[in-house]
Amino acid sequence: MDIQLLTDYERTRLSERQPLPEAFLRLPESELEVRIAAARAALGDRVVILGHHYQRDEVIKFADCTGDSLRLAQYASRQEAAETIVFCGVHFMAESADVLSGDRQQVILPDLAAGCSMADMAAIDQLETCWEEMASVGVTGVIPVTYINSSAAIKGFCGEHGGIVCTSTNAAKVLAWAWARGRTVLMLPDQHLGRNTAYKMGVPLDEMVLWDPDAPLGGLEPTSLQHARLVLWKGHCSVHTRFSVRQIEQFRAAHPDGKVIAHPECTFDVVQAADESGSTDYIIRTVTGSPEGSVWAVATEIHLVNRLARELAPARTVMTLDSLGCLCSTMVRVSPNHLLWVLEGLIDGEVRNRTVVPEPTRTWARVALDRMLALA
Ligand code: SF4
Repeated sequence: MDIQLLTDYERTRLSERQPLPEAFLRLPESELEVRIAAARAALGDRVVILGHHYQRDEVIKFADCTGDSLRLAQYASRQEAAETIVFCGVHFMAESADVLSGDRQQVILPDLAAGCSMADMAAIDQLETCWEEMASVGVTGVIPVTYINSSAAIKGFCGEHGGIVCTSTNAAKVLAWAWARGRTVLMLPDQHLGRNTAYKMGVPLDEMVLWDPDAPLGGLEPTSLQHARLVLWKGHCSVHTRFSVRQIEQFRAAHPDGKVIAHPECTFDVVQAADESGSTDYIIRTVTGSPEGSVWAVATEIHLVNRLARELAPARTVMTLDSLGCLCSTMVRVSPNHLLWVLEGLIDGEVRNRTVVPEPTRTWARVALDRMLALA
């Protein structure tokens, strides 16, 4: 990894990272199981373990709560009794849990290298430049909306500037909230969630523009920026943008009665070509509630798809739309070995890989998250 190519946010995260010691590297699965279960039992109510849907099975089976970002954020905000929240997800999720947790609580991300390529596409200095440049051409009163897949600094900016956080579950509700407060909305970091959601709400594509953070004035003409109702940040998820219309055509040729369901982080073309689209929560509910005999191709992260396929077989057939597999390579960094290491650390009185959001970012990020939670 070339440290020079990293953003300040990534550098800070990785410089604080405590690597997994050698003694925890090559443990047999059976030993991991026994030791994690024993550590979990010894810690009792002092610890709560959260697991994101995209997490691998060997880790998620130890979670007290599983879900998408919204459900886990809500759950974390209610955990007043536990001293420690162990978040088996990625960095922005652990940051949100820290922001929402009480002062006595601490949040651990078992491997601080578990980041999110999409969150890393929006740096706070780029957002500040965007804000100033928009104002310089008369675009003011903008409501910033950030997807929960963003750093705490981005959420803090949104909180401080009258904005809000959204997830893929509540994006339409949040965008409606934002447009009730301002004519122009800036949505970051995922262009696809913003475009797909707004289009579904009836906003035409020609009222949306794409802001490139690496170009002066986002690579836009002042007039197109002034006309836009939605300014989309040029960010994307490297997992969900792998899916293509060609894959949908191939699936339909092989399964004429099958249906395709896509996550809104997929490209506009894929979402338009799919039969259904929605958040991970919506995907699970739709596929689980479909008639027996249904055949589904699912365009989202492979661990969720494989788990659904196992749970619903043989009544329903569920497969990934991308036969080469779409793995979130950062989420998978949290291994059972890391989980064991942080749990045994707590028993020894040592807090490993803690995630702390400093003030004043914490207060302003909480404002943006609370606005969302009040709507959810
Ligand atoms: S699936 Fe994409 S958006 Fe989600 S955590 Fe992984 S890289 Fe980030």
